[in-house]
This record gives sequence, structure tokens and C-alpha cells, in this order.
Amino acid sequence: MTEDKKTKILVIEDNEVNLELVREILTFRGFEVIEAIAAEKGIELARTELPDLILMDLGLPGMNGLTATQKLKHDPQTQNIPVVALTSHAMRGDQELAMSCGCSDYITKPIDTRKFPQRIRSIIEEQPNKNQ
Ligand code: MN
Repeated sequence: MTEDKKTKILVIEDNEVNLELVREILTFRGFEVIEAIAAEKGIELARTELPDLILMDLGLPGMNGLTATQKLKHDPQTQNIPVVALTSHAMRGDQELAMSCGCSDYITKPIDTRKFPQRIRSIIEEQPNKNQ
């Protein structure tokens, strides 16, 4: 049996229900999931774990997800990790704001549980530095 390295996803989300849902979907589809419920801890995990992708809730207590994304994008260690914004605020303009802060994509909550895993895979495969 080969031991392929699992694709590692860091989920930074303060809502326990959403966090559990995302964890369940992704682990069921064979992803490795690591988690943080606050931006500061998430940034620390990004640096030490170097995940293949980060799912970033924009509405976090303390440092918000956009500020955290900007910090990740200004750190040479983490700048090539794609960050996907997760937000329940489906407001016009939010997507542009998220992209301008360095997010690679944007997923609106509640997430589409059927399409979500493939969307994550596609985003990872589109990365020019995916093998890094
Ligand atoms: Mn939140």
C-alpha cells in the first residue's frame, strides 16, 4: 500500500458548526484537516504546517480574516499558499475586497457540500507553486 501524502487544508473558522461541517466533508474526501479558531493561531499553524490551502473565515474575533490573509501574503514562508475566503456575507464587493487582500477564491456560506471538495481540489491544482 502506498502512503501518498494527504493534501493538507488549514481551516481558520470560529464557528464550531461550520468548522465541524468543513472538517467532516474534507476528511471524508481524504484531505488532512488542521484547524484554528482564531487568526493568530491560524497564522502560526500556516508557518509551521505549510498547508496546501487555507480556508479563511473572514469574520473572526480579534484579527479578521482579511488582515490575516494580508499577513500571510506578506510572509515569504506562507505567501504561496492559496487562501480561500469563507464568508456568510454575500455582499456585492466582498469578493473584490477578498481578492485585493490576496485571496485566491471566495466561497459563500452555507457551503454547497457536494461541490465544495472538488472546488478545493481545483483551486489547489490551479496554483503555479503547488509543488512547493
Ligand atoms: Mn466567523
